[in-house]
Amino acid sequence: MSYNNPFPDVPSGSKMYRISNCPPSHKMERHAKDYSDKKDANKGNKVHDILAGESDEDKSPFDAVQTAEMCDEQSKALLAEWQVYGEIPLGLRELRYGLTELGGVVRVDDQTKAQILFTGQFDLLYIQGTRGLLIDFKALHGNHPSAIENPQLMSLAVLVAKKHRLSEVRVALVQPWKGKPTTADLSPAGLALAESWMLAILEAERVSTPDDRKAGDWCNHCAARFNCSAQRARSINNLDLIRPETLPANPDTRNKAVFARMEELTSQQLIHAEENIIGLMGVFIAAHKAVFKARVEAGEIPGYTTREKKGRRSISDVGKVFASCAAHGVTADAFTAECSIGLGSVKELLKNATHAKGKSLDKLSEEVLTGCVETGKVSLEIVKVGQLE
Ligand code: SF4
Repeated sequence: MSYNNPFPDVPSGSKMYRISNCPPSHKMERHAKDYSDKKDANKGNKVHDILAGESDEDKSPFDAVQTAEMCDEQSKALLAEWQVYGEIPLGLRELRYGLTELGGVVRVDDQTKAQILFTGQFDLLYIQGTRGLLIDFKALHGNHPSAIENPQLMSLAVLVAKKHRLSEVRVALVQPWKGKPTTADLSPAGLALAESWMLAILEAERVSTPDDRKAGDWCNHCAARFNCSAQRARSINNLDLIRPETLPANPDTRNKAVFARMEELTSQQLIHAEENIIGLMGVFIAAHKAVFKARVEAGEIPGYTTREKKGRRSISDVGKVFASCAAHGVTADAFTAECSIGLGSVKELLKNATHAKGKSLDKLSEEVLTGCVETGKVSLEIVKVGQLE
């Protein structure tokens, strides 16, 4: 399956949430150096490949297979609930459509010659007469607006409705790690409203300038964030609560001062820090590390250079090490007490050995682990009251 967008210069559905909040962000990205690591995107693509039958489940990581199975299960339930029996719906998967300058919608690929203003790739579309069911899979754990307020789904619904002359579209967001799918039904009036909203966003994007930037949580997925002054100002504003520039230089005294300052914060300020600063600090640190390293490597930072760092040593032949240790009197019990293996690795080994999948793999893994797993001490975690079941 192709994840290459043949029209990277025009806005796309997956960026609509960000563009609707920060209109010039797509243009900013086109001129920015992207330092993002692609780990998460690759994980998500793996799940999509399995769902499309383009990746061998036996050779895929078990968590990707498990996520794909959950997505598949939820999408089948959505289809069963939506379809009208008697007619077999047409199923389409992973296609990219584009809005042309003339207001039409075409399927786009490397050969498309039309002037394209906007594109969007859907995961799964079922069509029955003039009704459509549009399903978007989110394979990871990130936060996404629910179907009824999801800009990506709204714009995809407009594209598929225009392309297939649909008068009603049900959009569904399937993110199994977050629970049940969310859905929204777009009637002809809803589709017309979604289209005028989409065209207004695209027009705001077209005429936007860097002065129209607006930073927020949508910056986390913007490739321009590493060098964006609006995003930097947001980070600094948030840090103002701790007033870092007024902290003592001595590391010992400074650490104590940070604790003392935290103690002084009101409950409201602590909630603000929890919801707006702490997560952002992680992004700030990761972004700083990535950009700093890239600039040092490019020779752009005076006074810094890079050197090779030895990789971590790890044991590659446990059996041989045990045999050598045993020769010196180390017992098998003492040796295994020092070895550990993650629950996920056991599952992966069982999957490779037995080719079991999904629930049967879960069951097998439970059987194998029965009586061999200890649970750590119960501890308290912070959750919002609304998240308590
Ligand atoms: S980093 Fe944020 S503020 Fe800057 S362009 Fe991207 S979305 Fe806009």
